[in-house]
Amino acid sequence: MGTIKLYLDDPYLKEFESRVLEKKGNIILLEKTAFYPEGGGQPYDTGIIYGNEEYSVIRVFKEGDMVYHELDRNFSDEENVRGRINWDRRYSHMRHHTAIHVLSGILFKDYGARITGSQIYEDRARMDINYDLGREMLPEIEAKANEIVKKGLEVTWYYIDRKDFRDDMVRIREDLLPEGDKLRIVEIKGFDMQADGGTHVKNTSEIGNIKITKYENKGKMNKRIYINLL
Ligand SMILES: [Zn+2]
Repeated sequence: MGTIKLYLDDPYLKEFESRVLEKKGNIILLEKTAFYPEGGGQPYDTGIIYGNEEYSVIRVFKEGDMVYHELDRNFSDEENVRGRINWDRRYSHMRHHTAIHVLSGILFKDYGARITGSQIYEDRARMDINYDLGREMLPEIEAKANEIVKKGLEVTWYYIDRKDFRDDMVRIREDLLPEGDKLRIVEIKGFDMQADGGTHVKNTSEIGNIKITKYENKGKMNKRIYINLL
């Protein structure tokens, strides 16, 4: 059985308690965690693990279905710990991640464009678009994205059977889809559905104003844009 991933059901959870299942030097495996491991273009969380002492979490990564926490020093502490994630960093990732879904929803619906890659940072995000997107189209796309933000649409997440999966639920290349019988869907109510394993805000109004700050022409069907949230 894998680590219980508390962040999938409740991305707003900041603190949790867990048993330590494994410790190897400065790496620990927990029974459950609110720490998001690197994946899907969303960076890992940082934060603190509290035993008898305090440890900084400097990296979180996934191996198979297990989530490992890399600490600032060797762990030889209690079997039960408390964890607290760096909320400012995580919340910024959540806002940028949902912003990417808003933009990719517009690009797919209105232009038939797919996203071939994306990367979230604490203060910006990058998207690679498989479409002949001209620079002159950016103001229109940005305006459409901000309309969705202003509408304050609810964002939900749930699981579906793989057999119920439809081609239009994916914006990324199909070969990047996670494995397994169940697929997690992130839905912006009435607007967009995507297969996704990341953490999102629960309402598009939390994203803030989306600004497309940079455009790179990397080939006819390969454009890269950067966004900032104001
Ligand atoms: Zn996503």
